[in-house]
Amino acid sequence: MRIFIGGAWPYANNSLHVGHLAALLPGDVIARYYRKKGDEVIYVSGTDCHGTPITLKSKKDGIDPASIAKYYHNEFNNCFQKLDFSYDLYSKTMDQFHKDNVKKMFTKIVENGYIYPKVIQQDFCPNCNEFLSDREIEGICPYCGGLAKGDQCDNCFRTLNAKELLNKHCKACNHKTILKDNNHLVFALSKFQDKIQNLVNQSNDRWRLIAINETLKYLNNGLIDRDATRQLSWGVDTPIKGYEDKKIYVWIEAVLGYLTAGMQVAEKRNIEFFEFMKNDDFLRTYYVHGKDNIPFHTIIFPALLMALDLNVKLPDYIISSEYVNFNNEKISKSKGNGKSILELLSLYDSDTIRYYMLANNPEKKDINFSCEALEKEHNTFLVGEYGNFVNRNFAYLVKKFNGYIPKGQMDCNIREIIEKIYYLVGSEIEKGNMRSAISLIFDLVKIANKYYDEKKPWIQVKEDIKSFNDTTYTCICLIANIANMFEPFMPKSSHKIMEMLNMNINEWKYVSIPSNIQLKNVDILFNRINSSLNEKEITKIKIKK
Ligand SMILES: [Zn+2]
Ligand SMILES: [Zn+2]
Repeated sequence: MRIFIGGAWPYANNSLHVGHLAALLPGDVIARYYRKKGDEVIYVSGTDCHGTPITLKSKKDGIDPASIAKYYHNEFNNCFQKLDFSYDLYSKTMDQFHKDNVKKMFTKIVENGYIYPKVIQQDFCPNCNEFLSDREIEGICPYCGGLAKGDQCDNCFRTLNAKELLNKHCKACNHKTILKDNNHLVFALSKFQDKIQNLVNQSNDRWRLIAINETLKYLNNGLIDRDATRQLSWGVDTPIKGYEDKKIYVWIEAVLGYLTAGMQVAEKRNIEFFEFMKNDDFLRTYYVHGKDNIPFHTIIFPALLMALDLNVKLPDYIISSEYVNFNNEKISKSKGNGKSILELLSLYDSDTIRYYMLANNPEKKDINFSCEALEKEHNTFLVGEYGNFVNRNFAYLVKKFNGYIPKGQMDCNIREIIEKIYYLVGSEIEKGNMRSAISLIFDLVKIANKYYDEKKPWIQVKEDIKSFNDTTYTCICLIANIANMFEPFMPKSSHKIMEMLNMNINEWKYVSIPSNIQLKNVDILFNRINSSLNEKEITKIKIKK
């Protein structure tokens, strides 16, 4: 199979928080899983660098937009690396390759007849001699009489249309604005109403329910044509004659990043990207993001693909996440609540963060994040169950047998259970169900601990060495297979186990252990987090990596 996974492109004007992470992590699990299955995977994402918010931040802080975008891009990249994301490429929309290819695609859509010209009356400042975006206009709110911007009133917080504002003036120079004709290009989104409706009808359980419902809302209102160009100085130039002073609207340009990033990966592998993406039964495509991004992936992106007419497969799986609240409050920049990913990484090991966000993934409803809950789950499951099973077996072998794994017989029942769980976990990951996948593996950990407790190898070793060897060998096989299944979720601890076993396991199937191998550098898998300490003290405890 060919597998394409597109992780959402975070916007470069703020740090990443736990909500982003919860939305994006499933993509990495899916990518790692399919690679283990031996499928050819292209997994891409990048930083969304253009658009109005960065332009405004740049004006406010007196820093050029490129520097702002670069700063956040580096921060995002750093976070993803520390969290072991396995993107084949983490790109950015300000790269020349992206810009060049977006321009080509835009031109093709114009040639195919889905982008057409339109004269729009737009607010213009005669003093600055430029057209103004909604947020660059100030005026009086028609509802409350307070000072308002072109898109929202700062006084009563109503969403406004620039046309409604009274006494409009330029925010930068205070000069009265005038309306002036401006030539724009428009994308004929309304032409795709029926095709997008068909796409949703065929989505079945491959789209999250919230994605289906959100998309239907837009369809029920009727899709409307959208501006394809924007009067901005920061973005991708419009490649069409007569529109050189405009930029391509970021809603078109950013989602095409899935294609431009994929093209770069394919080029490195010496394969033809559009051949890889062609619409057949041997390709599965996944798009992984938060719920605020749904229409871009279920309406805009498929419409652009159809407008491009390149026979690229439309989205198969839409993995949209709900929100993460922080200590029972909505995460918001203005409140300054919520933990940034860098803060979390300074407190906890990457596997602990990945485990917690995946085991509690906001698949069907918003979830609450708290450090107390994370620490509790870490101590209960990772230390108390998984870590404990590994350590009690490994430590005993090191102590009594110099780390040598005895020659024994694998328990047939246990082997059968392991094989069944591989299958079940795999099919849950393929559907994007992280919570049930991870809980199936934890069922296996529970079975493993129960098996150990019932067999009592610490007694068998004195009374019946053959039984001891069989039990121990079975437990070590359990450990190897559990680590292998956990690898897409918690790569670091899985690799640690593989290193201790001196094995490199890289296939999604039952693995048996050669006997008489010697364990190496045996160490505790997870350390307990002492919750009675406050956060500053926790930082001082170096969590062993
Ligand atoms: Zn002005
Ligand atoms: Zn108002």
